[in-house]
Amino acid sequence: MKLLTKKQSPSIPKEFQLFGKTIKVVFDQERCDADGSYGLALYAESKVLLSKRFDGKDIDPVKIETTFWHEVVHYILNDLRYKKLSEDEVFVSRFAMVLHQVLSSAKI
Ligand SMILES: [Zn+2]
Repeated sequence: MKLLTKKQSPSIPKEFQLFGKTIKVVFDQERCDADGSYGLALYAESKVLLSKRFDGKDIDPVKIETTFWHEVVHYILNDLRYKKLSEDEVFVSRFAMVLHQVLSSAKI
């Protein structure tokens, strides 16, 4: 099952709504590097942080998109009070990959 395809730049919103809250999406290389992560869901700040580089290398745009969806899945599960499921990184990653595939292949 191939979920990812090559592309030039990521399709990432600047913000989105979730349960009446506005979540800002910000590229913050410094904080992601400090955490050693591709992205972070900062619930207290209503922000998703993303990075463009990891270990000194550019991150593939599709990987940036799947990281965005990964953080969104964390947000959804956290807001729905499915804390244990939100801590299951394998589940969150798989769900995000499938969600990304549906949304990136959707024809309107
Ligand atoms: Zn995660």
